Amino acid sequence: MSRINVLDQKTANAIKAGEVIERPVSVVKELVDNSVDAGATSVTIEFQNGGISLIRVSDNGIGMDKEDALKSFLIHATSKIKSADDIYDLTTQGFRGEALASIAACSDVTLVTKQADMDAGVLIEYKDGELLRQCETSADKGTVVCVENLFANMPARYKFLKRDATESMYICALVEKLAVINPHITFKLIKDGKQIMSTPGNGNMRDAIYAIYGKETASNLVQIDYELNGLKLKGFAGKPSFVRGNRSMQYVYVNDRPIKSATVTAAVDEAYKASVMKHKYPICVLCIYIPAGGVDVNVHPQKAEVKFSDDSAIFRLTLHGIRNAVFEQKNGNVSEPVQEAQPVIHNTTGNAKSLREKPAARSEIKAADNLLKILSEFKPDISKIEKETEVKDETEAPVVEVLEEPSDKPSEEAAEELITEPRVEDRELIDELLSSEFVGFLFATYIIMQSDEAVFLVDQHAAHERVLYERFGSRRKDIKEGGRDIETLLIPQILDLSTSDMSFVTDNLDRFKEFGFDIDLVGERQIALRAIPVATKAEDRLKSMSKPSVMFTQILDDLKRETSSTSHVWTSLIQTTACKAAIKAHDRITKEEALSLISQLHECNDPYHCAHGRPTFFKTSETELEKRFKRIV
Ligand code: ADP
Ligand code: MG
Repeated sequence: MSRINVLDQKTANAIKAGEVIERPVSVVKELVDNSVDAGATSVTIEFQNGGISLIRVSDNGIGMDKEDALKSFLIHATSKIKSADDIYDLTTQGFRGEALASIAACSDVTLVTKQADMDAGVLIEYKDGELLRQCETSADKGTVVCVENLFANMPARYKFLKRDATESMYICALVEKLAVINPHITFKLIKDGKQIMSTPGNGNMRDAIYAIYGKETASNLVQIDYELNGLKLKGFAGKPSFVRGNRSMQYVYVNDRPIKSATVTAAVDEAYKASVMKHKYPICVLCIYIPAGGVDVNVHPQKAEVKFSDDSAIFRLTLHGIRNAVFEQKNGNVSEPVQEAQPVIHNTTGNAKSLREKPAARSEIKAADNLLKILSEFKPDISKIEKETEVKDETEAPVVEVLEEPSDKPSEEAAEELITEPRVEDRELIDELLSSEFVGFLFATYIIMQSDEAVFLVDQHAAHERVLYERFGSRRKDIKEGGRDIETLLIPQILDLSTSDMSFVTDNLDRFKEFGFDIDLVGERQIALRAIPVATKAEDRLKSMSKPSVMFTQILDDLKRETSSTSHVWTSLIQTTACKAAIKAHDRITKEEALSLISQLHECNDPYHCAHGRPTFFKTSETELEKRFKRIV
């Protein structure tokens, strides 16, 4: 008996919907793509409750006649391609003909559309994947698609949705991205009844960026217009001094399609390698244009990724395009990247930190070299350690690696001897640290302490992060109980936020307030920071740190990356605030500050781990050192 069923259309659509429509933002993406393809010059996106209860996209594009409007909901119904060959030379966003069918399979959809020469519009309504109604209606030229009750019929998928605030943020971030690449279209974004973004639609990309991100971002961008072997790179690259805490503002488009690409990201990192600190990300809008045949866009159901026929050509295009624009290396050498070449940094304003780091790294290498030399006198065969001490990107690495014993023992075992994980309730070790004496600093990162027979190395950043983490945690309680443990800023700091950041802050305003960030919403995309948690104020920071506004943006970036569910928001806020406010590796502190830090660490419930669980210090004994130097066996 035959066991294979050919699934009916409704079931097929529901399965497809699972691939194409992952969350509310996927609906927005498909609908806006359709509006763009329809030649609209104005697109309005409205949504409610993170898009879960309502998404409505209206455009003034060409519209559809009645027959096409009905067909548009059929799977693989498209006006954009005729045969498979066409997908290598696309001029449209859509081509798979499955978006409307998929959306109708997982929500309630109403579509109203009218072409310019039609007397009346057409209304089509789908519910539970079935056509419910079709009739004439009055309408303006263009198309309006209204999607309600997303995933109401798919409980499993519904369960995976994040908080409304998070889904909202995804939608805002997507619309920003689409508005930037379509500067000829006026975009309006309306969230829960309130307009939160609009772009001029005058065809100028910088103006669109200005409208979305504000003056500061727009003025920190350098234009790119570059060509290499028939490939083009246009757009903007941020000055190295203007960085963010994650990649959310690194936009990549291929033939006007927003995509993610590891190749392009790697090229961006390479381009800025010498001038931007680790874990900091310059902003960029990279529009890559590839002639027909050079790219396959049909590799991802949501069209979020593409396949390049020549990855290395794309890498070089991006690397040189950015370097030429940002570092003005107009030396005509465009064919091959010169790996060692350090870009000339013309704009160093505000970049003191990244420049400061380099001498530190060099001195570490020198220190490591010296240690190696000393060690080599004891033991001629040092090839093994040499290999291990190759300079790693992580500047903290050498100290531990150099100490690694050149023995035949498995290195894990050796490390075990050096670092014994103390238990939280065990106070002996921290008491011992407290009563030990200050010796000095290593690499401006580790505090060296010594007792009668032991040596301690304290990671200044990890230790301070722990201190602040516990302080935040307990002060949050004070704040809740009516205490006002916040520092009011003498001059409120005005911050321009992007639409998605603004959306995140507005949706979490109470939490920020509860925690000690007093924020006023000043404009559509502007906030005034009036107070910050007291634990981040100068005296607690041991040394002065960046402006509260900079710290706030960094905290925001980290929070956006880390928080997906309500319960994590607080922990993350505390963790990231502690981490950002803490002194960093390579920050020079005084002996008094080091001692004060250790006594504060002593007060902690868990003095042994930073907020992220890494060790704050470790102990090694004099006997251990004697063994290493073969004074004793
Ligand atoms: P695709 O975009 O891949 O062709 P869709 O399911 O998104 O598939 O849309 C199916 C068809 O419906 C499109 O090819 C287009 O002809 C028509 N269509 C959808 N949305 C619009 C719109 N906003 N304006 C005009 N036509 C539209
Ligand atoms: Mg489409």
